[in-house]
Amino acid sequence: MKVAKFGGTSLANGSQIRKVVDIILSDPERRLIVVSAPGKRFKDDIKVTDLLIACAEKFIIDGKADEEVGSVVARYREIADDLGMSSDIVEKIEEDLKDRLKSYNGERRLFLDLMKAAGEDNTAKLVAEYIKTLGREARYINPKDAGLLLSSEYGNAHVLPQSFKNLRKLRDESGILIFPGFFGYTVDGNVATFPRGGSDITGSILAAAVKADIYENFTDVDSVFAANPNIVSNPRPISELTYREMRELSYAGFSVLHEETLEPVFRAGIPVCIKNTNNPSSPGTKITVSRTTGSDKVVGIACDKGFCAIYVSKYLMNREIGFGRRLFQILEEEGLSYEHSPSSIDSISVIVRESDLDKVGESKLVDRIIKGLAVDEVSVSRDLALVHIVGEGMRNTIGIAKTATAALADANINIELINQGASEISIIFGVKGADADRAVVALYNAFFK
Ligand code: ASP
Repeated sequence: MKVAKFGGTSLANGSQIRKVVDIILSDPERRLIVVSAPGKRFKDDIKVTDLLIACAEKFIIDGKADEEVGSVVARYREIADDLGMSSDIVEKIEEDLKDRLKSYNGERRLFLDLMKAAGEDNTAKLVAEYIKTLGREARYINPKDAGLLLSSEYGNAHVLPQSFKNLRKLRDESGILIFPGFFGYTVDGNVATFPRGGSDITGSILAAAVKADIYENFTDVDSVFAANPNIVSNPRPISELTYREMRELSYAGFSVLHEETLEPVFRAGIPVCIKNTNNPSSPGTKITVSRTTGSDKVVGIACDKGFCAIYVSKYLMNREIGFGRRLFQILEEEGLSYEHSPSSIDSISVIVRESDLDKVGESKLVDRIIKGLAVDEVSVSRDLALVHIVGEGMRNTIGIAKTATAALADANINIELINQGASEISIIFGVKGADADRAVVALYNAFFK
């Protein structure tokens, strides 16, 4: 059994949905299908999920959102017309949206998730109906009935462990099962969504639960590339990656898969294949436990911006038992998650996202560190970009760091920090935000040209 997930651009209009259905029907193993909500049809278009958020927000303020509901319904009407489906399905979708609005009881977070989920939910119903019109057995699966249980962290939910056992039963169902991505239910029966882009996570959970032979993730690019094509022109496609490499790359700006996608399939050892709905015969990129590397020690260069380094120093820090714990306890008490923390004998840098630090307040945090730990210095260096060189086996290869630092030096880029050692498969360079793109190009040229 294969689990196939199709992203928003693959469902953006009728002709895209036809391609999706052709792909599904071309392989009888593709039986459990996860769909996103319709995405952008063209560059400046608005995703259905964003239309739904606008709808919910308008309703919260005004108690009505007729125009906004109209925009969502119009997207589905266009799709249904394109596919030659009857207007019944569109009427049902309109009714469903109105019912969701009516259920608003002042609980903003719950309501937003309920509305956001309407995109995937109605798309799954529509696709199942469409396949039936072609004379094939297909069925919409309601995540509640199937037992996809999530934590009640609305908008940022996590799967609960019992879901895997519940969902396993889908393996025994006949026909093509169309499962809406992005949301599940809390144990109290409320709709809860994953973070944005979270239909990828649904697919991964289902693949792990039914022990699929493969999790196919259909998107709008032929493969994962060795660097962001918006920064490096014509970067090299990657044919095979390990989970760990993909995790590092998607953490640092490779947006092909949602960052949290791989955990369920990684734990279950299920391979993933990223493929293009618009070019399904292209082999795509395969993600597995291990790969035959050959001479490719480095697979990709990733970069993410908007970090800052909280630099803390204290003479004889290394001798002070519990210093690290007390520092991280302050972060924990302030609800601040840290990304990583390179350290030396008398100093430690804690890397956090700028947006997270701003929620806490820089001066408040600095004050707590000074008072609580009697340190000699605390300073915050902002606007950092983290550039990752990623590749299995890199650690055992002589000269990778030399090649990287020489490339950055030749491009006249100052390295603000280096983090290697903790991870076997990446070296991270902190550079100023303004130098980030140039750093990616310099490193790409050094390793791939
Ligand atoms: N439709 C949701 C979003 O736009 C989830 C997804 O597409 O994966 O974020």
